[in-house]
Amino acid sequence: MVLRNMVIIDEDKCDGCGLCISACAEGAIKLIDGKAKLVSETYCDGLGACLGHCPQDAITVEHCECAEFDEKAVAINGDIIKTETVRAV
Ligand code: SF4
Repeated sequence: MVLRNMVIIDEDKCDGCGLCISACAEGAIKLIDGKAKLVSETYCDGLGACLGHCPQDAITVEHCECAEFDEKAVAINGDIIKTETVRAV
């Protein structure tokens, strides 16, 4: 665990529009049961590229103790997402 910035999603504000998902280059956010959720702390670089895309102001960046950002895990996750997309076509 390390002290760093992390995206926090307020589920009460989230309406499930999905705009933050495409805004996240790391694939860290998924819609689960109609709400945006951080899939893994290791996928979030904490830069908050998704913040400006949320019309509900449901996303904040907070400094907290959490798992370290893991670029290798992001790359593996990206390959999984690409594979899922190919299968869905
Ligand atoms: S952009 Fe905001 S309201 Fe839309 S899914 Fe993401 S967190 Fe929820």
